[in-house]
Amino acid sequence: MPQRALLLIVLCLLALPSTSAAQQERPRFMLVVHGGAGTILRENMTAERERQYRHTLTTAIRAGYDVLNGGGRSLDAVVAVISRLENSPLFNAGKGAVFTNAGTNELDASIMDGRTGNAGAVAGVIHIKNPIVLARLVMEESPHVMLAREGAEAFAVEHGMDTVPAEYFYTERRHRQLERAQADEEHGTVGVVALDQFGDLAAGTSTGGMTNKRWGRIGDSPIISAGTWANNDNCAVSGTGHGEFFIRNAVARDICARVQYLGESVEEAADFVINEKLVAQHADGGVIVLDRNGNFAATFNTPGMYRGWVGPDGTIVVRIYEEGATDR
Ligand code: ASP
Repeated sequence: MPQRALLLIVLCLLALPSTSAAQQERPRFMLVVHGGAGTILRENMTAERERQYRHTLTTAIRAGYDVLNGGGRSLDAVVAVISRLENSPLFNAGKGAVFTNAGTNELDASIMDGRTGNAGAVAGVIHIKNPIVLARLVMEESPHVMLAREGAEAFAVEHGMDTVPAEYFYTERRHRQLERAQADEEHGTVGVVALDQFGDLAAGTSTGGMTNKRWGRIGDSPIISAGTWANNDNCAVSGTGHGEFFIRNAVARDICARVQYLGESVEEAADFVINEKLVAQHADGGVIVLDRNGNFAATFNTPGMYRGWVGPDGTIVVRIYEEGATDR
């Protein structure tokens, strides 16, 4: 008997320090945001415009911080941040969505719950002010993962969501972009990855797609595994960039598969996929990645990516240019 008691005490002592060390290492929560990657150069940015970007990103991140700090879920933080960015004309999502070749705005979004593996997405909606809210509704209130166009909008109305007239998405700046019919070098897609106090990961992405798109083109943003991924067993990702390449390479899932099967850090995995694999294919873009221990990476192969993050201490960091291709 005394021997068994001794063994028990020894086992407890062995178990204790490692548990508390793990608890100390993991931040209570973490949130990382991107507002699109692309040719974002200091010399092309006015001081006023930069101030607007920094202010909007900071305000949106603060909303996510409040959710997580108040004990809320990562999914709620993802929606809180993305819907604020969707309401801003600055980003290529919601209000600021780019124009299609036909002069319309067609929006895509997706969300994934890392705890359950459940996911929701919408593609090609034209009357939905906050596509990320609808993506979550699809995840939680339908047996499906992705709904598109009129069907997605009918589902939204059936569930009491407000719609907006198509003209709501008209912004001068995006319209001029279409008129120039330039290749969309500045991807203003928005995305969030978050870890909450329950240790659950979530990810979401929202976009207007690519300027001048035609034929009902859908990019990676509403496609789970391509533009969005979250799983508590590996990591959470939101991407921005040339969507066709993100789809072909299943970028978001590929990064988390490397974390899961090769044991790479989120930084190593993102670096390989974005800076080696995509670069070899001449594909531009970036990702934000977060794991369950609060490790994150913001990695991009373009001159800039709007990005920011916040942890439990409430310090909000916002970056735009290439201040190191990978932040962590
Ligand atoms: N990835 C988006 C798409 O291809 C575009 C972007 O990130 O701006 O639709």
